[in-house]
Amino acid sequence: MLDPKNFKKASDPIIDWIDNYLKNIAEYPVKSKVKPGDIYGQIPSEAPEESETMEEIIKDLEEVILPGISHWQHPNFHAYFPANSSVESVLAEFVTSAIGAQCMIWDTSPSAAELEQRMMEWLRAAMGMPDSFDGVIQDSASSASLVALITAREVATGFKSNEEGVPGNLRVYCSTETHSSIEKAVGVCGIGKRNLVKVEVDKQMRMNPAILERQILADLEKGLVPCAVVAAIGTTGTVAVDPLSEIADICKKFDIWLHVDAAFAGSALLLPEYRWMIEGIEQADSFVFNPHKWLFTNFDCSVYFVKNARLLIKTFEILPEYLKTSSRGMVNDYRDWGVPLGRRFRALKLWFVLRSFGLRGLREKLQEHIRLNEYFCTEVQKIPGIELALEPFLNFSCFKFNPDGREDPEKLNPLNEQVLKMLNERGRIFLTHTRIGGFHTLRMIIGQTYVEQHHVDLALEEIITVCDGLR
Ligand SMILES: *Cc1c(COP(=O)(O)O)cnc(C)c1O
Repeated sequence: MLDPKNFKKASDPIIDWIDNYLKNIAEYPVKSKVKPGDIYGQIPSEAPEESETMEEIIKDLEEVILPGISHWQHPNFHAYFPANSSVESVLAEFVTSAIGAQCMIWDTSPSAAELEQRMMEWLRAAMGMPDSFDGVIQDSASSASLVALITAREVATGFKSNEEGVPGNLRVYCSTETHSSIEKAVGVCGIGKRNLVKVEVDKQMRMNPAILERQILADLEKGLVPCAVVAAIGTTGTVAVDPLSEIADICKKFDIWLHVDAAFAGSALLLPEYRWMIEGIEQADSFVFNPHKWLFTNFDCSVYFVKNARLLIKTFEILPEYLKTSSRGMVNDYRDWGVPLGRRFRALKLWFVLRSFGLRGLREKLQEHIRLNEYFCTEVQKIPGIELALEPFLNFSCFKFNPDGREDPEKLNPLNEQVLKMLNERGRIFLTHTRIGGFHTLRMIIGQTYVEQHHVDLALEEIITVCDGLR
């Protein structure tokens, strides 16, 4: 075991390793090229009986582990959504793990609870969220949405289903484009996946509120109980923004819990020019967004805002004898605000990031990514045969290669599958895809913390090279 008195000496090689990693990150192939089992086969089948040195461990980190890493902090990581980090966030994680606090209740580390409360207020104000919402940090948007649906379930059943089990007649509504975490949550919380109603979207992939209302009426007619609607602000496939205020009016009319999933796009609310996305939010019941996606705070850190925290607490509180404290009721005991009892001190990294960047620094970074996306879209359309598949939005765009004007997706898709495969195999950039109107389209996100214009130029060069080779 390493001696904590020698922390500085023991950490020097690790600090050097991280320093080198971050300096050279753009040189790595973005996406790992290993095959299934490659890494597993290189790791001994049993733990060592005797102590090994840090030098040996770091050597294997470099030689065994690194080849199997896809570099999410690589500036040419344009796949999925980013899971971006920052130096501030990494440093805060050092401190968090050194302190190693279990922050289940206020009593187990008052600073963790009170800093979390303040950070939620800072973000709420910075994003233009109404003061009527309280916030709590969850591990992921999936957990936050599960928490929202469990609370909605309790509200819809008069707080009986925790006790007696879930009736089979509750209904949840979302669009066909909603993230898979909602389907998972509906199953896990006992409402049942067959009670999830997927509402059709318009051409811009946004939920159609008229169809939502029709579905609700049809369900009421059948004696079913509408329990929750999930609106997406920035869907995962195409960053579509559901019409929140129309959806909110419908939820109000039928008294249905409205949960808003802004996991990725929520960060853009720091920019006042994007606040239109949450027009009507004061009528919503809960809202989630992930600083661990596009707010430079490394995984995991998901912010859950809820309008009536009493309903949340009533749903999740437990009170075993050993957790009874005299401060109860005067403070936030966050174990009552979600599923797990144990909690990491996640507020600390938000505090580091918000202070070190400053709100202006954060806004400038977001604006720069949006500008780079506009630049990318202008340039990519100059490549013969490249078409944008949707209007670009925020730092997202999607495009396809259609050199001879094919109109049948079946005829064009193999070509675009080929383009994507070749781009990713070359290793200099990493993109993923989505389907739009049957077409296989390439999806480009410019949200990595360290991305600059020359990286976008590199992506453009790569696309030109690959397309030229396929003409
Ligand atoms: C990424 C994403 C999620 C899931 O986020 P996790 O934090 O990984 O659970 C949910 N909804 C949307 C819209 C997303 O983009």
